[in-house]
Amino acid sequence: MKALVVGGGIGGLAAALAFHQRGWTVEVLERAPEVTEIGAGLSIQPNGLRALDALGLGDLLRAGGSAGPPRGIRSTDGTWLIRNDIVELERRFGPWAIVHRATLVEYLRAELPASALRPGTTVRAVSVDGTVHYDGGTATADLVIGADGVHSVTRRSIWPHAAGPRYLGYTTWRLLTGAYAVRGSVEMWGKGERFGYVPMPDGRVYCYLMANAPAGSRTGLEQLRDRFASWHDPVPALLGIARPDEVLQHDTYELPNMDAYVRGNVAVLGDAAHAMAPNLGQGACQALEDAVTLAAEVDARGIEAGLAQYDHLRRPRTQKIAQLSRRVGAPAHWDSALATALRDTALPRLPSALLGRSITPAYSWAL
Ligand code: FAD
Repeated sequence: MKALVVGGGIGGLAAALAFHQRGWTVEVLERAPEVTEIGAGLSIQPNGLRALDALGLGDLLRAGGSAGPPRGIRSTDGTWLIRNDIVELERRFGPWAIVHRATLVEYLRAELPASALRPGTTVRAVSVDGTVHYDGGTATADLVIGADGVHSVTRRSIWPHAAGPRYLGYTTWRLLTGAYAVRGSVEMWGKGERFGYVPMPDGRVYCYLMANAPAGSRTGLEQLRDRFASWHDPVPALLGIARPDEVLQHDTYELPNMDAYVRGNVAVLGDAAHAMAPNLGQGACQALEDAVTLAAEVDARGIEAGLAQYDHLRRPRTQKIAQLSRRVGAPAHWDSALATALRDTALPRLPSALLGRSITPAYSWAL
């Protein structure tokens, strides 16, 4: 049996590996000239680690180091708005890992035969019968897996009338600083902007920043330093040691709910199926869950029934997590003085168990 995977990001490589491990011939068509990932850190939460366990890679990440569960959310003056019980979180769900994106891609890529990777191949269209048209040719397979991200060609080909990605109203910067000592991972909320940091196992610090802005607007490191200069430690210091050429900026999009993740001999997964606001740090974890579930179900039931079961299992879960992710991040992007003052007064008074209750079921997933 043969699977063609459109897109060699984390979701596509994980799917290719899951099918390869079940004896399928796989080919990953990736438009970039190399199969790698740019930029920054990636938090892999307990459910994502369990999905990687299904590929035999979970312990590699656990051994690589952990920043622990997120410690919570602070205001710009350092006051705790939400404080997580990190000992209890880790006891209940297991460890959180932090990894450089390129490292995770390398772990996945290394388990695939070189012949499975076709970088420099841009897919232009996909048909329900499993035919893929790319620059320079056409290929067919028993199954086509669209893992080509939020602006997926696979999705547009198979569901031409489905709603496209929706801009969330804020842009994101990501960067890795040099070595700097911070205690655990923390997010800070201001007025329509926020700053998060996570210590990497090698001593560097992964930072992400978000701010309300029209799509397409661009801001350099100097302006970010000015903008966040009055924030509590360690924000100015981290921006102070960042290098301008290492700052990545992307606008943030989410995908409106799709009515199906499968049609004919085609399935979509990861951001191609359910790109979500990055507020819960679950996008890649969900792509990993999708990948191993798809392979397990197709292996157990055959293509038609396996695809149906994949859709049945994955669509409700991922759409619920996407909705939650949008909601929990919304107060960070309130920009009126009154609303943020009320938020900063109310949040510390709420029990942390109540605040965490809606997301914690996401961590318990297992294949
Ligand atoms: P992508 O990573 O978008 O990969 C798609 C691939 O398809 C790319 O390689 C692309 O080049 C290729 N491609 C596209 N079109 C074509 C074509 N026509 N032909 C051939 N190839 C094509 N998730 C977490 O789990 N933890 C986190 O800590 C986390 N932090 C985040 C922070 C930010 C600021 C953001 C924006 C997201 C974050 N996410 C996080 C979400 C996560 O990055 C994504 O959900 C995940 O990378 C999606 O993987 P994917 O493989 O589905 O898609």
